[in-house]
Amino acid sequence: MRATASTDREHEVLALWEATVGRDRWQRDDALLGIAASVPRGLGARNLGLLALRNTIFNRQWSLRSACPACATECEFTVDGVALAEQLGAQPIEQCTTIEWEGRSLTARAPTIDDLIAIAGVADSADAARALLARCLEGAEGLAIDDLALGGPAVGGLERHLEALDPAATIAFQLRCVGCSHEWPSLLDVGEALTAELQRAAERTLIEVDALARAYGWTEAEVLQLSPVRRAAYLQLVEAG
Ligand SMILES: [Zn+2]
Repeated sequence: MRATASTDREHEVLALWEATVGRDRWQRDDALLGIAASVPRGLGARNLGLLALRNTIFNRQWSLRSACPACATECEFTVDGVALAEQLGAQPIEQCTTIEWEGRSLTARAPTIDDLIAIAGVADSADAARALLARCLEGAEGLAIDDLALGGPAVGGLERHLEALDPAATIAFQLRCVGCSHEWPSLLDVGEALTAELQRAAERTLIEVDALARAYGWTEAEVLQLSPVRRAAYLQLVEAG
């Protein structure tokens, strides 16, 4: 009998993994989101789309890792993917709003993937932050944000205003290092974490296909059609032999 559900899942993992290989960050996320009818441009919507995809393929317990910025220890932690999606999905997105800033009225809109692509070539992070503000903020009298001569704290404050418009755009976990007790907010790149998870799963499948193809001369399709129980049994026989 064919193990349809697990076979379908493996086919999907292999196809998604293949679609991400050799692509840059934005293209990779577009490829993952491409199974939806239209790929969203909003950052929060993209995170929610990637998270929903992740939750259809993998277990809700999501193992993540982040390197401590103080001592570089790799810290592992687990997140409930379904609860995270529910929590983020419940937060309202404000596409556009007016903010009062030091006596000025500014129109602010939530940054999109197109804004991030536009500033990707700006090497200096402070310049990149100013360029993002220039794209997403507009003075009431047509005043360009470049004219405000913003210092570092002002840039940070205005950035937080933009972040608040689209809460699902920024996902961070407060972590404490097991090595040195340093605490830091670890930012989650959903596309990157999902790609790593897909790669690990695809590699496991490819190793099994390789072992059984070598031993029995079966094709990839034939190995993928085996039920998980039969496949594990044949792999044990190959290992024992
Ligand atoms: Zn540390």
